[in-house]
Amino acid sequence: MAHLTVDIGGKPGVNCRGFCEYCYFKHVKEVPPFGCRHCPPYRVGCDYCSRSVREYYQGWKSLRQVGEETLATLQMMTGDVERVTISGGGDPSCYPEFTDLIELLAGMEVPLHIGYTSGKGFDDVGIADFLIDHGLAEVSFTVFSVDPSKRKRYMHDPTPDVSLKILERLCGEIEVYGAAVVLPGINDGKALEETCQWLDDRGAKGLILMRFANRTDQGLILGNSPVIKGQPVQSPQEFQEMVTDLAKQFNMKISGTPLWDPAICSPFAIRNEPDLLDKLPLLQRRATVITGSIAAPAIQAILDARGGGVNVIGTRKEIACLITADDLNALDLAEMESLVVIPGRAFVHDREAERILTADGNDRTVLRGPEMLTADAETSMGMTREGVLLIELEGFSGLIAVINRYGQDSP
Ligand code: SF4
Repeated sequence: MAHLTVDIGGKPGVNCRGFCEYCYFKHVKEVPPFGCRHCPPYRVGCDYCSRSVREYYQGWKSLRQVGEETLATLQMMTGDVERVTISGGGDPSCYPEFTDLIELLAGMEVPLHIGYTSGKGFDDVGIADFLIDHGLAEVSFTVFSVDPSKRKRYMHDPTPDVSLKILERLCGEIEVYGAAVVLPGINDGKALEETCQWLDDRGAKGLILMRFANRTDQGLILGNSPVIKGQPVQSPQEFQEMVTDLAKQFNMKISGTPLWDPAICSPFAIRNEPDLLDKLPLLQRRATVITGSIAAPAIQAILDARGGGVNVIGTRKEIACLITADDLNALDLAEMESLVVIPGRAFVHDREAERILTADGNDRTVLRGPEMLTADAETSMGMTREGVLLIELEGFSGLIAVINRYGQDSP
């Protein structure tokens, strides 16, 4: 069984009826490529870190192009297609040939999934039944707020009442995961409770809350900070507490990104699972592990539980996957062991990382760790606790294997 992703192209903001106020792509600048795990050894920059990361599309793909690409992908796939996901840089609800696209994909007679939509492009309530009748089984729908005036003001949705009616109809029939970037003072507090209640009453499967970021250290790496001048931001702890409180109050699943999924206790649920921790290999050598400031304490605790000898250093960047060369440059090399493991997905070229982390003249081996050590809430939303724990078991086993193979012998 296989999943087919249908990419319809589109530029964030441009192909969304204008930028939402909080859109991270709003101020994205032409920055030089960062370098990443996909780059060839002698060149900084590849398609991923220079184009995909900023969802750099020319515009919508024509229906004909989408059809041809889908056919080509299908021909290369083995096994039956289990489900089809529509994705792209722009908002699918704004795709000019949206109904034709759905009719085309419905012909495959497998469940359809819209990976993300804000619903801003839907102006007719009838689209909900059209989608249900054509096999839409799951959608992630940015609600932001169930107060139409807030949707209008902050998402620039020209027909917020219609969008909410569509969302309501879909909630009653298919799997709907709501999403909302939380802007303190605007859609949090009482307004957010109302949004949760509204979704819960209508049968949404879950709501994923996204902590708003407004600074480079919070994760804006494309020269795009601040997204909203003067907009307050929650600390990771405040955000986590808000998610925990809301999750207790409502039946549907409520989780937050970059942290926290209260139903699974992730990220890093394995921290509180002594039996599973015992299944991880014991650490036999020393090393330094670099990660984001949010993950550092949890990774340190897990590695300490397997014998210790590893110092985990949190960068000023909060999120490990968004670490760039600037974050490595700001670290104190005096604390580094002879093996330094950087996050698998860090946006820095291997050679650049090595140059920065040996700039004090000490020889060090710099390696990338596993792609994932845990699942963020966007990943864990549709997963079981066992699935997340498995990702963590594999991730930490991989990290410990790297340290045991290339690390420094303990004195
Ligand atoms: S719909 Fe999404 S991608 Fe488009 S402007 Fe709003 S936040 Fe950005």
